[in-house]
Amino acid sequence: MLSSILNLEALAAYDLTHVQYSIADPWGPTWALITLMPVFMLAVYFGVLLQRRELTYANALVGQFACEFVNSKLKRSIRQARPTPFLGQGYGMPSSHAQFCGFFFAFWVLHYLHHPPLPLPGRSRPMWCRYMDFAAMLSIIVIITGLTCYSRVYLMYHTLEQVYVGCSIGIAMGAMYYMLTERMPRRAKHDSLLMHFRKFLYTNYFARMLCLRDSWTVYPDGPIEIEYSQWLTNFQAWTKPPACTALQGSANAHLSLMLDALAQADLCIAVPTAFSVGCVIAADAAQMRNPSMDLDVIEALAPYSLFTGYSRELPGNTHAEECALEKLARYAASTPDAQSKLAREKSSKRTPLSLFMYTTMEPCSERLSGNAPCVDRIVRFNEARHVTSAAWLAKGTGLENSSCGALKPSMCDGSLRPITVVLVVQGVREPQDFVQCQGQRVLRGNGVDVISATPRALPATLGLKLPPLTSISMRVSEGINWLEDACLRMAKKGHKT
Ligand SMILES: [Zn+2]
Repeated sequence: MLSSILNLEALAAYDLTHVQYSIADPWGPTWALITLMPVFMLAVYFGVLLQRRELTYANALVGQFACEFVNSKLKRSIRQARPTPFLGQGYGMPSSHAQFCGFFFAFWVLHYLHHPPLPLPGRSRPMWCRYMDFAAMLSIIVIITGLTCYSRVYLMYHTLEQVYVGCSIGIAMGAMYYMLTERMPRRAKHDSLLMHFRKFLYTNYFARMLCLRDSWTVYPDGPIEIEYSQWLTNFQAWTKPPACTALQGSANAHLSLMLDALAQADLCIAVPTAFSVGCVIAADAAQMRNPSMDLDVIEALAPYSLFTGYSRELPGNTHAEECALEKLARYAASTPDAQSKLAREKSSKRTPLSLFMYTTMEPCSERLSGNAPCVDRIVRFNEARHVTSAAWLAKGTGLENSSCGALKPSMCDGSLRPITVVLVVQGVREPQDFVQCQGQRVLRGNGVDVISATPRALPATLGLKLPPLTSISMRVSEGINWLEDACLRMAKKGHKT
């Protein structure tokens, strides 16, 4: 079977990939590498396309293949030999490498000329910096094209004429292709067929699934600057120490309530296919007395535990955050006066009462069961603007184990207000056992701060009392984040290791 396919006396070399050079020439290997440029460029096209999902790159790649197809047809109809019978196979006119590079040159030079460096409104990147980018991009295109074309003549695979003709055909094809598929559909009036077709290419169902996009329709420089500025903002938020105590994951008040959440997780019935998570929803005691108080200026943080939940506590495959939110929403709905539409409307304009959510694991952003993920539930909870009063919340939740002890309802603000989750404190990020969790990112994108509980010392040093746990034993030693370790082991209880 194999011998019939592999006839060693009649082997062919694939034109774009096969290259020979004179052993006597010290520059031979360098020019051989340069002449292979089209092959490297195809690899780059695929890599960039996979990473960026830009329609323009996919379109250019299709054009390059079309150009190669035309070249093979031309070679067979012109039938002009190569300069030597020893190097290269088939006909030589026009050079396919030169035609490939000519297309690449025309397509990308036109692309950059039609998308010159323009600043986005309100952006501060200096103009000279943009022009440097622009000049560098154009220089790279010119150098790649020039060197590859010259290498064909240098290595004696083609005559100068064959390269010249190949390059010219490539440039003509690249320019026409660019104008027809990129320039005209973008410039065309809104009802043109070309424009509708192009739009269809990136708005259809499959394109959306693959995240295919056309950035240059929205941003002058493609997404470079906007992506960079978004990244920079996120990076700075990530590295900058939080301004107020409420946003410090090392605050004892947060750690204490995370231990309460851990005790909740301890109540979960372990299953091998899901995590065991505990959750506590709390409000700050100072804010419950005076909701107009700004969280940013609260010095002594004193979160007061309101509602708890743990995985599978409520019927169905429920999550801890889902159970706690559900209990809170039900209780809020029972607030006297909250039934009156007028009272609800009036109160929804008041300063919201801020809630903190403590969860032993990052709220989920995707559920294999298809149920709504917890991040969606948190965002929807905030959007729903449930109204209740701090006094009513304190009345129904006389939990003694919170760090500030019982808060008497009479000490709390009695006015109806909306309740909003403003901060999520997580014990550990979700491991990628089942799905890739984006919870933290989604919540931050929806205006909910997310921090991790990060004790800076051992519980005894911090004066924290560890809850008695039955599912796991706490591993408390120097050098490890003992709280994160416990949250993770608790989450994975009942899992096969
Ligand atoms: Zn969840």
